[in-house]
Amino acid sequence: MAKRAVVVGSGPNGLTAACVLARAGLQVEVFEAEETIGGGARTAELTLPGFHHDVGASAFPMGAASPAFRSLGLERFGLRWVQPGSPLAHPLDGGSEQGTAVMQERSVEETAEGLGREDGAAYRKLVGPLVEHWEELAPELLGPPVHIPRHPLLLARFGLGAVQPATVLAKTVFKGERARALFAGNAAHSVMPLESPLSAAVALVLAGAGHAVGWPVAEGGAQAIADALAACLRSFGGTVQTGVRVRSLAELGPAETVVCDLTPRGLLAIAEAELTPSYAALLRRYKYGPGSFKVDWALDGPIPWAAPGCRRAGTVHVGGTLDEIAASERAPSAGTVEARPFTLLVQPSVCDPTRAPAGKHTAWAYCHVPNGWAGDATERIEAQVERFAPGFRECILARRATGTAAFEAENANLVGGDLSGGKMTAWQMAMRPTPRLYETSRAGLFLCSSSTPPGGGVHGMCGFHAAQAALQALKT
Ligand SMILES: Cc1cc2nc3c(=O)[nH]c(=O)nc-3n(C[C@H](O)[C@H](O)[C@H](O)COP(=O)(O)OP(=O)(O)OC[C@H]3O[C@@H](n4cnc5c(N)ncnc54)[C@H](O)[C@@H]3O)c2cc1C
Repeated sequence: MAKRAVVVGSGPNGLTAACVLARAGLQVEVFEAEETIGGGARTAELTLPGFHHDVGASAFPMGAASPAFRSLGLERFGLRWVQPGSPLAHPLDGGSEQGTAVMQERSVEETAEGLGREDGAAYRKLVGPLVEHWEELAPELLGPPVHIPRHPLLLARFGLGAVQPATVLAKTVFKGERARALFAGNAAHSVMPLESPLSAAVALVLAGAGHAVGWPVAEGGAQAIADALAACLRSFGGTVQTGVRVRSLAELGPAETVVCDLTPRGLLAIAEAELTPSYAALLRRYKYGPGSFKVDWALDGPIPWAAPGCRRAGTVHVGGTLDEIAASERAPSAGTVEARPFTLLVQPSVCDPTRAPAGKHTAWAYCHVPNGWAGDATERIEAQVERFAPGFRECILARRATGTAAFEAENANLVGGDLSGGKMTAWQMAMRPTPRLYETSRAGLFLCSSSTPPGGGVHGMCGFHAAQAALQALKT
C-alpha cells in the first residue's frame, strides 16, 4: 500500500508539493477551501463576459525560472509562457511630448543602451554577471537563504549587493534618475521599505530573471499554471477536491504526511492543539506585512501610454522616481497610503489575445497599503496610470476593486491583504516562519506556503522544498 499524504490548500506551492510527493510514489489528496484551484494563480471573468482577469499573480519571472516547475515539465500539461515585447517599462515625467520610459528589455545590452552613457556601463556591470551565471544561481536563490552553497563565490558576489538597502545600492551604482527609478521599481516588489537591508536582493533577482527568462504571462491566464500542476498531479495518481475548507487536522484522517499550504495563522487554526506550546508561540509571533489594493479593468483598447515603450511591455511600474517610490513604500508601515502610490501594473493582453474579445484588453494594477486597510485606492491608482497614459479613464469599460478584506475573503492566506505570506524582514526572509522552516513541531506535519523560503511569488519552490523535507522524514 502506498503511503497517504494530504495537502491542505491548492496554491502553486500546495500543488507543487503534491506533485513532488505523488511523483515519489505517495497517494496524494489535495483539499482546497475555494471552489476553484490555484490560490494566487487563478483566472476569472471578474468584470464582463469574455474578459479573463488574473485574480492574483499575472507576470511570472520566478515561474519561468523555477527549477520545480521545470522538473515537473508543466508544458506537457498545457502551460505555455508568452513573452511580451519587453518584460518591463517604467514611465517617467517629462521627456518629449511622447513621454519617456526607461525600459528593461530582454537583453542586458539593449537595456544598457537605453540607459545611455550615464548608467549603461554600470547596469552591465551590476546585472550582467547575474545573467551570465543565472542557471547556477537560480536554484541557490530559490531555496532557503541559509544553506551550504554549491556556488559560494557566485553567491558571495551576489550577496555583496543584495544585502544592501535598495536606495543605497541604486544611489551608489547609478548616477541618473532613470536607472535609479528602474532599480527602485524592481525593489518595491520586496514589499519592504527601500531603505531596509536586503531590499536590493529582490531588485537584483527580478532584473536578472527578466534578462535570463523574461517576465512572461501564462497563455490563457495564471489559472493555466494551477491547471497544469493539477494535471501533472493526476498523472501521478493524485486527486484534488475543491470546496473543502479544512478546519482541523483530525478531519483529514490518517496520513503519514500532511503538508499545509497555509500561513502560520492558518496552521494554528487547524493544528494548534497538536503543536508544542513553544512552536505555537513562535507562529503567533510571526508578522504579516503591508496589504495591497488592486483594481482589475476591462478596457475598450490598449492603455494609451504616452511613451511608446510602455505599450509593448507586459509589466509597467507606475511610480516615477526612486524618491517617489521609496516614499510610497515607506507609507504602509506608517499606516498611510501616498497620494501618488507606486503602482504595479500588468497588461497581459498586449501579448496574449485570449484574455479579452478582439480589440479589447484587460489589465490590473495594485499598490501597497497598510495591513487590513479599509480605504479605497481606486482613484489614486487610476490617477497614477492617467499621469503617464492620458485618456486612460475613457478606455475603461468596467472595473473591479479588491481591498484587503476582500483579498482575505477570497483566499484565507492573504492575511490583512498581505500578498507575500508574511512580512519581509531580514529575519523573516531567512527563518520563515520559524527556524524549523518547512518542518513543524509535530512529526509528519509540514508547511509549504509562501510563509516558508523562498517566500512570495508563483514558483512552487516552497512546495518543492517542503516536499523534499517530508520525503526525507519518511526515510528516517
Ligand atoms: C493580487 C496579487 C498579485 C500577485 N502578483 C504576482 C505576480 O505577478 N507574480 C508572482 O509571481 N506572484 C504574484 N503574487 C504572489 C503569488 O500569487 C503568491 O505568492 C503565491 O500564489 C503563493 O502561493 P501559495 O501556494 O503559497 O499560496 P496561495 O496561492 O495563496 O494558495 C493558498 C491556497 O490555500 C487555500 N486554503 C487556505 N486555507 C485553507 C483551508 N483551511 N483549507 C483548505 N484550503 C485552504 C486557499 O484558498 C488557497 O487556494 C500575487 C498575489 C496576489 C494576490
